[in-house]
Amino acid sequence: MVQEFEAKLNEYARLLVEVGLNVQPGQTPSIESNVEFAALTRQCVAACFDRGARNVVPYYGDDFITRESFLRADPAVFGEYPSYMKARVDWLLEQKSPRLSFTGSNPELLKGVDPARIQARRKASGPPTRPYFDALTANKFQWCVGAHPTPAWAEKAFPDKKGEEAVDALWEAIFSVCRITGDGKAVERWRQVVDTIARRAEILNGHQFKTLRYANSLGTDLTVALPDNHVWAGGCDHTPEGVEFMPNIPTEEIFTAPRWDGVDGRVYAALPLAMDGNLVKDFYLDFKGGRIVDVHAGQGEEILRRAIDTDEGAHYLGEVALVPCDSPIRNTGILFFNTLFDENASCHFAFGEAYPSCVKGGEDMSEAEQKAAGLNRSMTHVDFMVGTEDLSIVGTTHDGREIPVFTNGNFAF
Ligand code: ZN
Ligand code: ZN
Repeated sequence: MVQEFEAKLNEYARLLVEVGLNVQPGQTPSIESNVEFAALTRQCVAACFDRGARNVVPYYGDDFITRESFLRADPAVFGEYPSYMKARVDWLLEQKSPRLSFTGSNPELLKGVDPARIQARRKASGPPTRPYFDALTANKFQWCVGAHPTPAWAEKAFPDKKGEEAVDALWEAIFSVCRITGDGKAVERWRQVVDTIARRAEILNGHQFKTLRYANSLGTDLTVALPDNHVWAGGCDHTPEGVEFMPNIPTEEIFTAPRWDGVDGRVYAALPLAMDGNLVKDFYLDFKGGRIVDVHAGQGEEILRRAIDTDEGAHYLGEVALVPCDSPIRNTGILFFNTLFDENASCHFAFGEAYPSCVKGGEDMSEAEQKAAGLNRSMTHVDFMVGTEDLSIVGTTHDGREIPVFTNGNFAF
């Protein structure tokens, strides 16, 4: 049993480093981790050196300390960003250090924390880290997000299990949706997934739809305009040097950017949204000329409103992503309470920052040029799920032809 787990953990570390980061000889990857993830982090460090890394620089966070600080530190702290942390991200950017990070913190870590502190921290850390994260979203260096269970997260995903039992169940679910069986062949299986995603992206790119119209029985009726020269992408990305990497494992989505000023109608969430350690449930957003003009949530409305109030750009959509209902993640029937997984269970949008690569040449445009091309700009990027089993999406081409993209929750091609 222990041996089987070790084999899977090793297969997972290798998948993250070999397919996710695709570490090249001489590079110095950084690993953003958590003290509780040390076993996986060490396997990843070893895998990086096996690939010829020059060095590996880890950074360990600690959920307990994060929460204590949010609850008990001097409120002024949240409006500051320490210079040594700014120096660190600047150094990593200079090195073009590939970045591996893990999601898995307690989804309710910041429950009960004054939302003003969370907002202040987000505002203070935004501008100093902006160059680094701009380079990341523009794929200037390789990056990948993996996952590691914590008891708090596992107990949310498996409410009838406790402690270690819940963690074991969540590990099994993660391995299963990452197509890890212990036979060491996960890397090859992911090559096939990437091929299917590439075939569909090519079809979508060929159509160059003017708009997509979303409808389902929840009441969603939304028209989303797409920018000229938009690019549907998914699976792998490339750095300017041509190094292929996979930003998210697992990934099932094909995504592009909407025109920030071209979204109209109402969209209902299909799944709850875990945000800043809180849950937002049963919500809809109303759009006019791209802007969110009304918000309603059955639970967590204040948290959702504050996220949308982060900046002006957070009032507009920055991502439109297509995920078939018939995906390994949806088929597990598990709500992971974690975006990395749940966003791959369902078609989704994000309000906030668009990926510049979603418009041809977008990475090399100035901020003003990106906006003119239709790409939204914001300090935040929040995914929310809208795909249901009866979702239909119809694309309209620039010459007025209507082509089904989704029927009954799945790709029409
Ligand atoms: Zn997405
Ligand atoms: Zn997203």
